[in-house]
Amino acid sequence: MASAAPMIARSSPHVHTQFCDGRSTAEEIVQTALQKGFVSLGFSSHAKQDFDPKYSLDEAREADYITEIKRLQEKYQDQIKIWLGMEQDYYSTADKNQFEYVIGSVHYMQMPDGSKLAVDSSFEQLQQIITDAFAGDAYALVETYYQMVGEFVARTQPDIIGHFDLLTKYNRGKEPFDETHPRYVKAAQSAMQQAITGCDLMEINVGALARTGIKGPYPALPLLRAWRDLGGQVILASDCHLAKYLDSAYDAGIALMKEAGYKKAAMLGRHEELFEWHEVP
Ligand SMILES: [Zn+2]
Ligand SMILES: [Zn+2]
Repeated sequence: MASAAPMIARSSPHVHTQFCDGRSTAEEIVQTALQKGFVSLGFSSHAKQDFDPKYSLDEAREADYITEIKRLQEKYQDQIKIWLGMEQDYYSTADKNQFEYVIGSVHYMQMPDGSKLAVDSSFEQLQQIITDAFAGDAYALVETYYQMVGEFVARTQPDIIGHFDLLTKYNRGKEPFDETHPRYVKAAQSAMQQAITGCDLMEINVGALARTGIKGPYPALPLLRAWRDLGGQVILASDCHLAKYLDSAYDAGIALMKEAGYKKAAMLGRHEELFEWHEVP
């Protein structure tokens, strides 16, 4: 083939299926990956948690998920290396030892009534979190979110840091917060400094961009530059919830890596090693 996709684009460590909040089956994803020339693929269902059950695995679905991914690993072993992973939320209750790798992510904020609301559901819900849990101070949300990210990654040492600045998903320009505001920048940079003590690999997540065509990859360029300055590494991730988006917006992710000065990036390994390294094309 004259213009084969660059090696770095032919893998993803971040994929959801019908076992959690994805819309495709795991096998549909594998078949799409094969059509697209993927050489490795990682499933990362939202780990079991004791709230918001539609969004994550539960006890029964966790067992089924593990069984199914192991079946696919075996069935397709001559065609693609498949990894059994999970996306562990700050509040998840899963035993991570059942999985071959972990993406560590913060999605939820604890509300005054004890319930938990995700920062990436809608603009209205983001506003509700700020009003009800942070007395209207958007930067107090920012500071709490990033404290959680830094502390969680340092403590749990995931293999990959998930969508570092997810709370910006519904941020509109400077509303409800300005990403150049000193309180925002300080909170994000402190989180990176703490996080890198637990994990030095951050995903470039193009999931929202692939789905909406609007929200750029996580993290934003200034944060990615700061991550590089700290010595942090990167891996391209689709955060795919529907097979057809498996490598959508990868070009934008690669462009962001280059813009931040990255010459090499990780991808899931084709053999026994979890990660391989490739030049950024
Ligand atoms: Zn996530
Ligand atoms: Zn995800």
